[in-house]
Amino acid sequence: AKACGRDRSERFDEAMRAEATRLLDLEADLRRAILQDAFEPFFQPIVRLTDGAVIGHEALLRWRHELHGILPPADFIGVGEDSGLIEQVDWLMYRKVIGIMAGSNAPGYVSINVSPRHFRSDDFVERLLFLLESAGADPGRLRIEITEVALLDDAPRALRMLSQLRERGVLALLDDFGTGFSALSYLHRFPIQALKIDQSFVQGLGSDLHAESLALVRAILALAGTLGIDTIAEGVETQAQRDMLDELGCQYGQGYLYGRPAPA
Ligand code: C2E
Ligand code: CA
Ligand code: CA
Ligand code: CA
Repeated sequence: AKACGRDRSERFDEAMRAEATRLLDLEADLRRAILQDAFEPFFQPIVRLTDGAVIGHEALLRWRHELHGILPPADFIGVGEDSGLIEQVDWLMYRKVIGIMAGSNAPGYVSINVSPRHFRSDDFVERLLFLLESAGADPGRLRIEITEVALLDDAPRALRMLSQLRERGVLALLDDFGTGFSALSYLHRFPIQALKIDQSFVQGLGSDLHAESLALVRAILALAGTLGIDTIAEGVETQAQRDMLDELGCQYGQGYLYGRPAPA
């Protein structure tokens, strides 16, 4: 039994080492990719549910990896955040998105994703405005997507930053709504243009979780209505989901039903 226990702990050590090596490789890979500028925004349309008109696009980060092909954020964002590299990746990404936006006459706005940690950095607003200005892009066509964590972490500061951005025309969307603190009482204090209803609730519609999802989506829509905030449903995959959301009074939607993320 003793020998067996030792084997097991050796196997465990080996697995830990393999995992540590994999993560180190990934970090080295990520550093190289930053130097090679191997990141690219994909864009997914956001539409008005009543008539399907495109009102904007969300920019979603992709890594064109030389061996593994096109990687979504889930494959590298953990290591990127732990190593602090994600901020560099984000700035490369934002510059590209803004460059593409400035040179395109696609309808509506473009939204970028900002992680809570990134939103906390001192020069975030200044750098973003600088990028817009150097690209000759209209700030009124850019939106930032942030989560509740980014707001509540240091609320006075978040309020200041969002106000500065809004003064220049950059509005904010509240991402993944319903999955965070949803302390609700804070909502009316921030300049938020729209709530993005998290896709878990949207995909719950018509599933085993229908009743709960319906109740939550209703509550979110009522709240947003009271506060005069627009609503965007994320992860709309079926016509049935679209119809329910439209009937419930949700204004906008995004998801595979309308289009997958794709290069510019
Ligand atoms: P998110 O902001 O909630 O983005 C929505 C995710 O849902 C995207 O995954 C999108 O491809 C996916 N999606 C869209 N429609 C559907 C649908 O109908 N069904 C399903 N099942 N999924 C759908 P993606 O592109 O893999 O991005 C994952 C997350 O990575 C994003 O979640 C966002 O939090 C983060 N992210 C994306 N781009 C950036 C970026 O430039 N910087 C940072 N820091 N994070 C990013
Ligand atoms: Ca988002
Ligand atoms: Ca989201
Ligand atoms: Ca998310």
